[in-house]
Parts: sequence; structure tokens; C-alpha cells
Amino acid sequence: MSLCYCSAVELLGKLAAGAVSSVELTRCFLDQIAAHDGTVHAFLRLDGDAALARAAQIDQRRRAGQPLGPLAGLPLAVKDNLCIRGQPTTCASRMLEHFVPPYDATAVARLLQADAVILGKTNLDEFAMGSTTETSHFGPTRNPWDVQCVPGGSSGGAAASLAAGMTPLSVGSDTGGSIRQPASFCGVTGLKPTYGRVSRYGLVAFASSLDQIGPLARSAADAALLLQVLAGYDPLDSTSANIPVPDYAQTIGQPLEGLTVGVAREHFGEGLDAEIEVAVRDAVRVYQSLGAKIRDISLPHSKYAIATYYIIAPCEASGNLARYDGVHYGYRTDEPAMLAEWNAQRRQLDAAGDPRALDKLDSTLVRMYRRSRAEGFGAEVKRRVMLGTYALSAGYYDAYYLKALRVRRLIRRDFDEAFREVDVIAGPVAPTAAYRLGEKLDDPLAMYLGDLYTVSTNLAGLPGISIPCGFTRDSLPIGLQLQGPPMQEERLLRAAHLFQQATDWHTRRPPLTSTRP
Ligand code: GLN
Repeated sequence: MSLCYCSAVELLGKLAAGAVSSVELTRCFLDQIAAHDGTVHAFLRLDGDAALARAAQIDQRRRAGQPLGPLAGLPLAVKDNLCIRGQPTTCASRMLEHFVPPYDATAVARLLQADAVILGKTNLDEFAMGSTTETSHFGPTRNPWDVQCVPGGSSGGAAASLAAGMTPLSVGSDTGGSIRQPASFCGVTGLKPTYGRVSRYGLVAFASSLDQIGPLARSAADAALLLQVLAGYDPLDSTSANIPVPDYAQTIGQPLEGLTVGVAREHFGEGLDAEIEVAVRDAVRVYQSLGAKIRDISLPHSKYAIATYYIIAPCEASGNLARYDGVHYGYRTDEPAMLAEWNAQRRQLDAAGDPRALDKLDSTLVRMYRRSRAEGFGAEVKRRVMLGTYALSAGYYDAYYLKALRVRRLIRRDFDEAFREVDVIAGPVAPTAAYRLGEKLDDPLAMYLGDLYTVSTNLAGLPGISIPCGFTRDSLPIGLQLQGPPMQEERLLRAAHLFQQATDWHTRRPPLTSTRP
């Protein structure tokens, strides 16, 4: 098998044994990217030379017998909403096209400390708002299983990069499903950790009470390696939890004695594709055959999850995105053009003999803010900002935002009750498999409804993992979601690993044809 599809665990073994050097490995992934990314477009930015130079350094340190970090010499990719010092961090937005952060995100600092080699930054929906990467200012990523289809989103570049063998590990972020849903669309494994498990310092904020950084990989065992490096307390993020991080790699192979898997009746309702339901129910039967007890449960408030999420997330986004005004941060409109327009309007009003001509014009400052934001943000981001400011405005705040916060508590309480009876909850990741590019782009509501099964995990602050569990008739991957109690990533990884030991869905590869220009 080509090195490109080897597991991270295996590759680290080969690196340690000297069977392959980091430079060779980095070159192998860069070649794979060169061969296929013209079509897939998983990467927004590649740092081939820097990656090779770093790989050479790590090889040299290894030869010199110096101590090395846990990911020493392993290439990987980072979603382009995480700051890397001195490199553009665009969030796939025109607004941040030229933003170069002067610092590393904690997640990135940890990767560097672990001696990983960062290949580049992966594509996403603009500001991580979307489910397909189609809102990326730089154009969509395509699904390696069918390039006419979306890879999911917002971490679509991360998921596609793994499916296409362009990297063994990819870092993503998940606010309402952005790690798990693209993982399911691309047939890879993605874990959204508990709120607080991974520091978000240096992650460009979307919805601060929901955002989490997490690993995408081609197996649970590989995801465990990456989570190990990312997880842990960080004084730079006051929401990061100051509790010990278990040794995931060590415990992942341990048997799960007396595992009870919950199946929520609300996860199999209206809107779920029949093929997905069959694959997910089959996956539950796999657990049963492995000795798990299966129990029917109910999450009665899950029907409100979409409405709740699509109030809370835009409310928080509207605040977080206020900083992009072309002054503090971000794209600034062409000022001479703006001033020329301002003067022209003023002359018109003057010519009309209007005595209040000046009052009728926005100040140039307001005009600059307005134009910068109008030109810098795409349509979906504007929609979210408008939804959020509306729901937060006087008169609507209580009716929408406060009510959503209350329902959020009820959603969390449903989970707390369920986890008194079961260890994990198994269900679908998304109601459908990947769909065609453009299919839902003009129908935001249809797009939002695709987040039905993922958003409640974020609203409740829980960990959730997506693992491949089958294929549709059209040969598109299907994902199984496992949700767990707070801080039980270890349990999810073990349960996912157990499944992957008994099945081979996660080992299937897409039929890529080279598109080297
Ligand atoms: N698809 C969801 C949204 O559009 C989730 C995005 C995310 O998790 N970043 O908001």
C-alpha cells in the first residue's frame, strides 16, 4: 500500500524505526497533493518548502539521537481558521484574505511542540458557516468519492484531504457538526471533543459557546494520537478545562466491558434517508454482536435543536464578527472610490439646493464600515449576522435568544438523563450522504436541516465522533455518530476502535484518478 494511505500509527512506527524519513514522507504527501488537489481543492495554502525544511530538521535531530515529540516527522494539515504565526489565516473569507496573525493558535503550538510537520491549510466554509465548503471565497472542495459531490463542511477540506490520501491527520473545528458531518461525507473518522477539552486560543471565533477544535483521521486510533496532542488545559483560553487528559492511545484497545449503547427514537424520524437508517441500524447490530447491550432511549427536546442552534450560533456570530470593520481587522473598501462616491452624492444634494445635504449622507467612517463589510463578507455570513442581530435586538431578545438558551438547557438535561442508562448514544451523523455541488446552495433552510443530528452535541457541550459505517447505492460513505457524556472522549474512541476492529468501512479508498496538469 502506498505510504499515503498508511495509518498515522504505522507511519510513526516507520519513522521511529528509520524505515522512512520525514523528508520522504512529506514528499510523498506533497506528490499526492500535486496529483489530486487540482480537482479536489482540499488545500487553500501549501507550505511545501517550509514543510520539507522542517522535516529535514527533524530527521537530523532524530539521527543525532535528540529527544523528539510524539508526532515527530509526521506531516499533517490544519484548517484555515486556526492561526499560524506569519502565515495567512483566511477563514476562506475575502475579509481575512490578507490577515497574517502574529501568533500561533495553542493547537498549532502543540503540534509544533510535538514535532509534527504542517503541510498547509485546508479549505472550509467562510468563517466555518456552512455544511459543504461552497461558501468558501476561494471555491469549494470536492468529495474524493465523487467529485460532483460536496465533501461536507465546514471542515470539508480537512475531511477530503484524508480521503484523498493527502495527509494522515487533519485538524478541524466543530461548532454544529463541522468535523463530524464532513468526516461522514468523506468516509473518515472525526471527533468533536467536549467543550473545554481543547484550547480554542487562536481559533477564529464563530460561536464561542459552541466552537471546539478536534481531530480528523482515517481511524479512531489515529484520531486518538492527534487528540492526545491537542487536548489539555491552556491558561490562554479561560473555557479550557483544567482536568487531566487520559492516555488515549494506551486505553483505546482495552475492551469495553458491559457497554450499553443507546438508540434514540428521535434520531430515526422524518427526513432520514432510508439507506442511512439501514446502515446505522446495521452498525448498532455490530455492537450487539460484539456483546454490547442495546437500549432504546428518548431525547424529547431534540426536535428543537435546529431552531435553538440557528438562533444561538448566529447571535454569537454577529458579536464575534463585529470586529471585522476594515479598521481593527480585515478587508477595507477602496477608499478613494468610496470618497469619490461620497463627494458625488454630496454635490448632487448641493446642486438640488438641499440645505440638509450633509445630514443626509452617512459619515465617511460609517460608509467605510458598511462598504467594507458588504464587500468583505459573503452571502451566508451576512445572513448569519442579520439573523443574529435581529434575534438579539430589543423586543426580540427574550422571545428568541433567551428562549433558545432555556431550550438548550432542556436539550442538555435530556442527555444527562440518557447517560444515566447508557454509555454512548449511537445514531446517524447526517440525514443524507453527500449531495451534488450546488444542490442546496440556494436553499439555506434545507442546508440547515442537514445539521439535525449534529448540533445538539454542541448545544449540550458533549463529545461526538463520526465513523464510517457503510455506503449508499451510489458508493458514497455513510457515517455513524457516537455521542458520550462530558469528557468521555476516551470511551468514544474505544467504542469507535472496537467497531473499526470488527468492520472495514474505514479502510475503503475512493477511486481517485490523477489530475496532474
Ligand atoms: N453546518 C453548521 C453551520 O453551518 C455547523 C458549522 C460548524 O460546525 N462550524 O453552522
